Amino acid sequence: MAQENNLIGQVFNIQRYSTHDGPGIRTTVFLKGCPLRCKWCQNPESQSLHPVLMFRADECTSCGRCIDACPNKANSIVDGKLVIDWERCTACGACTSPAVCLSMTRKVEGKPMTVEEVMKQVSSDYNLYLNSGGGLTISGGDCAVQPEFTAALLKKAQEEGINTCVEITGAYPWGRVQQITEDADYVYYDLKCMDDEKHKEGTGVSNRLILENARKLVEAKKQMLFRTPLIPGFNDDKENIEATASFIKNELGLSPSEHLELLAYNNLGEDKYLRLGFSEPKRHARQSDKYLDELEELVMSF
Ligand code: SF4
Ligand code: SF4
Repeated sequence: MAQENNLIGQVFNIQRYSTHDGPGIRTTVFLKGCPLRCKWCQNPESQSLHPVLMFRADECTSCGRCIDACPNKANSIVDGKLVIDWERCTACGACTSPAVCLSMTRKVEGKPMTVEEVMKQVSSDYNLYLNSGGGLTISGGDCAVQPEFTAALLKKAQEEGINTCVEITGAYPWGRVQQITEDADYVYYDLKCMDDEKHKEGTGVSNRLILENARKLVEAKKQMLFRTPLIPGFNDDKENIEATASFIKNELGLSPSEHLELLAYNNLGEDKYLRLGFSEPKRHARQSDKYLDELEELVMSF
């Protein structure tokens, strides 16, 4: 076990008192890395397995102090404004110190942590989990990108009597999905779009493996909650929600009203794209409450 305690993973956030990532009050550990590239991703800083720099250009005073601090010459002033050459940036973090950037515009997302370090934080809320029926949730990105680290965290949590949940995409061969769900009490699983061509267009991968693994997880008697993040104009049409509910009922033999959660569009991630040096994302508005009610009714009708 000492060896497993020392395993290192890339972690980008540990969120205590979480109430949306499984039953009760939980600690959600967000791991870096994802096999999908969803165009609407709310956490684009999670996609790369490696640390990434985020920069708030609107708070930059163009003082230029970060230019000398950077070992890779990634910063320069162009037309009076600080510009980052993202190809050169290795997210070393040298420019993020408050002693360099007095405006604190920079932050590196993602850092290596051992299983022991993560579990020390998770275990500190043990009584809260007991009283609320909560526990540990491992999310991402997709925690399947770091299977050994995820499996070691789950094993350790189970040994300590902490309830466990994983949030995964299912876009990996079954062996890996099995490895990271074996010690999970709950599996939260995205069904983003039933039309394979649209799924490829929106996420960069086919949904075939995802649907196949969903069947295998249900056969393995895992406690599943399927979730569909509703993206305007991509998958929030009634046809897709009907197809998703039908898959859950007819192919998996589960009740959609109990096993499918629709997540209204959340635009909180949109500003992150520019901070990461990505191009401007397509911006959307949240669905109306009336339309969300109609979709819920559709799910309940199955
Ligand atoms: S994180 Fe490191 S490499 Fe990137 S801009 Fe800052 S100092 Fe340069
Ligand atoms: S040190 Fe901070 S405020 Fe100054 S130019 Fe660099 S990013 Fe902008």
